[in-house]
Amino acid sequence: MHQLPGAWQRAARGAGLLAPDGTSVPTIFAEMSALAASTGALNLGQGFPDEDGPEPVLEAARDAIARGVNQYAPGRGFPDLLSAVAEHQKRFYGIELDPQREVLITVGATEALAATLLALIDSPDDEVVVFEPHYDSYAACVALSGAKLVPVPLRWPDFQPDLEQLASAVTDRTRVILVNDPHNPTGSVFSREVLDEVVRLAHRHDAIIVTDEVYEHLVFDGPHVAIATLPDAAERTLSISSAGKTFSLTGWKTGWVTGPADLVTAVLAVKQFLTYVGGSPFQPAIAVGLRLPEAFFASVASEMAAKAALLGTGLRAAGFDVSSPGGSYFTVVDAAPLGATDADAFCRELPARAGVVGIPLTAFVSPAHRAQYATLVRFAACKRVDVLAEAAQRLAAMTPA
Ligand code: PMP
Ligand code: GLN
Repeated sequence: MHQLPGAWQRAARGAGLLAPDGTSVPTIFAEMSALAASTGALNLGQGFPDEDGPEPVLEAARDAIARGVNQYAPGRGFPDLLSAVAEHQKRFYGIELDPQREVLITVGATEALAATLLALIDSPDDEVVVFEPHYDSYAACVALSGAKLVPVPLRWPDFQPDLEQLASAVTDRTRVILVNDPHNPTGSVFSREVLDEVVRLAHRHDAIIVTDEVYEHLVFDGPHVAIATLPDAAERTLSISSAGKTFSLTGWKTGWVTGPADLVTAVLAVKQFLTYVGGSPFQPAIAVGLRLPEAFFASVASEMAAKAALLGTGLRAAGFDVSSPGGSYFTVVDAAPLGATDADAFCRELPARAGVVGIPLTAFVSPAHRAQYATLVRFAACKRVDVLAEAAQRLAAMTPA
């Protein structure tokens, strides 16, 4: 075995993935997708669709390759995609951006988040406030940056934060308030009061708001409220999104950061040394996607709402207590009525007991806070209707533990 000192340990520990023998284990998504593949179970774990995105977007990527768009893109992104992102922000949110200075194309939201946190955090005394449970990369990137993660709990069943707990988490040490809305893993959409409070606290403590809005077009009872549109927010907000969820193209890994020019340029300064740039032919194709007519974006939300309703009905029929997601791919259930005491163990047994894979919510929570999420499981609705129906039947016929 190699002795491997290095920042990998910070990342692995931050994400709760440092094994007792000192090695790093795969993410819960990698682990559960591998379990689904090896058992043949239906994968309602990792959030990726099982159908392709819109044909004009796929065709535009094929066309870009055929036209020879196969060398490095400019560091910020192709000008046409920068413009398409700016047009999208104007069309849906009324936000005016200078495409050349206030937009940056990244390798998915994941790189955008990593580069943003690394760019903004400067000292081990800096704090990053997140809502917990949270997407797995947040804790890893905050740990890599050397700062402290300050979680604000979201509680079953509505997963809205308590405003007093939020206010006491944000202090003058807070460098970033990181807001994922609609929220993974809980499916919640934050109330206007929560968003207003985030902006008020960011001003009071001179913090920067970083948003993760990858599910922006998956709000069931829309429209989505982008924090950058709230009064006095834009000047201190970096908004992050990605093509993956909106266009059912999670493998294309094309995202973007928008906001004040100096902040975006700071993110670029880090991003250019992480990947330099992502895959060129995807960029013109995503520009086509961002310019699709209104009806496409409306159908993205309404189709996912219908799938979430179908999944919810199936989960209730199988005996789970089921939360009501306001958006995203995800529905959280409490497996306690089915005798579960440990969601992690329950999810590991589920392929054998029911032929279905889900993700334990404890995977998104720091070890000290796991007890209150002990029996909660996340299921993804972003699958074909026949797959969701089959999963519901299998869960209803689950064998006893
Ligand atoms: N943030 C959240 C909340 C996510 O669910 C995901 C995963 N899709 C990402 C970021 C990463 O997005 P991307 O695949 O564009 O890197
Ligand atoms: N965003 C996806 C999810 O939450 C997973 C992406 C990944 O595997 N990193 O399921």
